[in-house]
Amino acid sequence: MSDKSSDKASLSMIKKASTDNVKLVWDRLEAQEPQCGFGKLGICCRNCNMGPCRIDPFGDGPQEGVCGAGADTIVMRNVLRAIASGAAAHSDHGRGIAMTLNEWARGTAKDYPVKDENKLKALAGELQVSIDGKDPKVIALEVTNCLLEQFGCIKGHLDFVNRVPQKRRELWEKLNITPRGIDREVVESMHRTHIGVDNDYVSLALQGLRTALSDGWGGSTIATELSDVLFGTPKPVKGESNLGVLRDDQVNIILHGHEPTLSDLIVHAARDPELLELAGKKGAAGINICGMCCTGNEILMRHGVPLAGNFLQQELAIVTGAVEAVIVDIQCIMPALPHVAGCYHTKIISTSSKAKFPGAEHIEMNEHNALAVAKKIIRTAIENFPNRKTEKVNIPSETMEYMAGFSAEAILKALGGSLTPLVDAIKTGSIKGIAAIVGCNNPKYKQDYSHLTFARQLIEEDVLVVGTGCAMIASAKDGLLLPEAAAGAGPGLRAVCESLGIPPVLHMGSCVDISRILFVAAAIANTLNVDISDLPVVAAAPEWMSEKAVSIGVYAVASGIYTILGTVPPVLGSKQVTELLTEGTRDVVGATFAVEEDPEKAAELALRHIAQKRSALGL
Ligand code: SF4
Ligand code: SF4
Repeated sequence: MSDKSSDKASLSMIKKASTDNVKLVWDRLEAQEPQCGFGKLGICCRNCNMGPCRIDPFGDGPQEGVCGAGADTIVMRNVLRAIASGAAAHSDHGRGIAMTLNEWARGTAKDYPVKDENKLKALAGELQVSIDGKDPKVIALEVTNCLLEQFGCIKGHLDFVNRVPQKRRELWEKLNITPRGIDREVVESMHRTHIGVDNDYVSLALQGLRTALSDGWGGSTIATELSDVLFGTPKPVKGESNLGVLRDDQVNIILHGHEPTLSDLIVHAARDPELLELAGKKGAAGINICGMCCTGNEILMRHGVPLAGNFLQQELAIVTGAVEAVIVDIQCIMPALPHVAGCYHTKIISTSSKAKFPGAEHIEMNEHNALAVAKKIIRTAIENFPNRKTEKVNIPSETMEYMAGFSAEAILKALGGSLTPLVDAIKTGSIKGIAAIVGCNNPKYKQDYSHLTFARQLIEEDVLVVGTGCAMIASAKDGLLLPEAAAGAGPGLRAVCESLGIPPVLHMGSCVDISRILFVAAAIANTLNVDISDLPVVAAAPEWMSEKAVSIGVYAVASGIYTILGTVPPVLGSKQVTELLTEGTRDVVGATFAVEEDPEKAAELALRHIAQKRSALGL
């Protein structure tokens, strides 16, 4: 069992689940084994009803589908569809945030705070929206109208592409992969992968780069920037992490998914005296709001809300027997949750019109009346407190403090207002480079092990680690997000962290907030007057599993960042596609993917890349 997780709290809940006769993700994985070899290699296709078709990987059987598509076409079409799905998920999230701010500007979403008017004005300047003498609502309306147009943009390219260093923009223009409208790229990808349209794997791959770029420099950036406007730009904040944050004497509510539009209001509503009084009447000492996955990241970045765990802990939180309600919105929410909840008293409450779950109660989020919805949800959880079965409650004791909230603005502030000290530290070698660690957990791999091994090895070698998503929740639980963790860093990085009072691993937010990492990388490249691909920077997704991670990896590579995947993508059925992704893109966009399941070897790859880039820059 210990090979399922590196996290003691998780291991104890996996054991409890077995005692309680509850099936978890690891049991369902076992039931799927051996998983389909064709699927693993990416060589099956069901894009039309002449199929499904599959290519024989050993060469004795069919080498083409009914329509004549070979392995290269099928593998790359499948990858492009994954990119389109991932880009759609991030970007639709961005659209939702833009719509909420737009509604606020129109006066129909009154419950939202709009915390960062300065950021709104800065965005207006960037988008060439005049602010002179205008009310913030008018500015918000014009800014959101401009950003909502980016989805179906009919002009040249997405506005945030202007943040990209000139050299890279010229490269994208030359390759014809500058992202146009976000929806356009996703739709075109679906069109090209329809039977009988684009059958050339290189052409499909180029569209993959463009679609992913429309996510990174489009939909994800919109989500990040406008979330900051609405809910505040994160600054360093402390909190607690892991399942031990659940309280045995309080109403425990877990916010899980990705969007801050409801969760941020729930955090505020939980302080309502009337609701606290109701909780008291039901025998609870308070209301304990905790985060999970990226909804957790959104609210911890701004409020230091306790963080119950990452992707593989969503079922385990319920297994504690101490959770009154799991409130879910969109993305990374296992359909199994209502089954697990059925073994305890927990209510699963879905809130998005886009994501419904058989067996869950649905209380739909409504921007026009968001606070009332938030209070109704909390009330439902409180009413459920007396149903808790004390004999089934077992909350692990593990908790760990974290420091998070490192937006690009917060990093700049910590550096005294300019990137120069960071650039100087990179030039002198105190900091050898930067590694971005992002992405999920995957039950095929020991939970958190690769994230933590990779991060620890890099900070020991004076590489500053930044990250987002479930990777950073792993770091939070392990203490790597504390300034004290600098003791495990190499002498150069340690000195920088100690002088600034920051951890060696900087939590920059949820998955869409990888846009913050892109922004910082572009700003460093602009400061040095080089391309992003010239920087001693790497990205890694050590335990990735989602289609969103595919889009992220591809926009990182297309932006010039060498990206190491710790779980094997389904591309090995085509030698050509595999070579293109791991070798060929070097001559095209100046970066490639590497695949390395062993995190120690992956760290060696990262360090080698950083050393090469430093040497090429003469550092
Ligand atoms: S598109 Fe071609 S390979 Fe795919 S299912 Fe149809 S016939 Fe088979
Ligand atoms: S890191 Fe992966 S699993 Fe975690 S919230 Fe993001 S996409 Fe979901």
